[in-house]
Amino acid sequence: MKIKHVVLEHEIFSNCYLLVDEKTGEGAVVDPAWYGDALKKAIGDTKIKYILLTHGHFDHIFGVHGLREASGAKVVIHEKDAGHLLDPKKSLAEDNFPETQIPVEADMFVKDGDILTLGDEEIKVMHTPGHTMGSVCYICENDRVILSGDTLFCMTAGRTDFPDGSDEMMIASLKRLIALEGDYVVYPGHNRMTTLESERKRNWYIRRMVK
Ligand SMILES: [Zn+2]
Ligand SMILES: [Zn+2]
Repeated sequence: MKIKHVVLEHEIFSNCYLLVDEKTGEGAVVDPAWYGDALKKAIGDTKIKYILLTHGHFDHIFGVHGLREASGAKVVIHEKDAGHLLDPKKSLAEDNFPETQIPVEADMFVKDGDILTLGDEEIKVMHTPGHTMGSVCYICENDRVILSGDTLFCMTAGRTDFPDGSDEMMIASLKRLIALEGDYVVYPGHNRMTTLESERKRNWYIRRMVK
């Protein structure tokens, strides 16, 4: 599967990723924070099947409405964050972003262990609450890639001080991630990519919790 980091128009937005099964041309967009020229150009004529949301914060979802209108793709999120797509208070857009959030109903809820497919390629869902109650990671086993949203970052982890965050849950989620066997490339929701092995060794949040 081809995995491309799409650099969006504004710094405030999360990292957005385009996944494409090259055999069938089917694709998915992870966290379309903005549906503008950058994302349109990256997508080209890829047939987008899924809009995969790692969680419901505004800096990951503002492009969901436009991308769904344009592509007919299914909006996929954990049920516990689905309300964020309807409510700028929950998404934190209200106090942080000047544009109006267009409400979107999710098309599909995912839970821990679910598997989605693009052609023959599988994308596994891991429920990783902590940053929000409905945070998930998407894992592409064939490519050994984790799309970690705002759960695991290079050297650190997502904030847990928002209204639906939990430090204990974040620790439990990170423990599950580092318990995965072998190494993975980690594409996080913000900042630069890393690897699971590097985070096992160097991530301050993980080192603190395994002490
Ligand atoms: Zn974020
Ligand atoms: Zn977030």
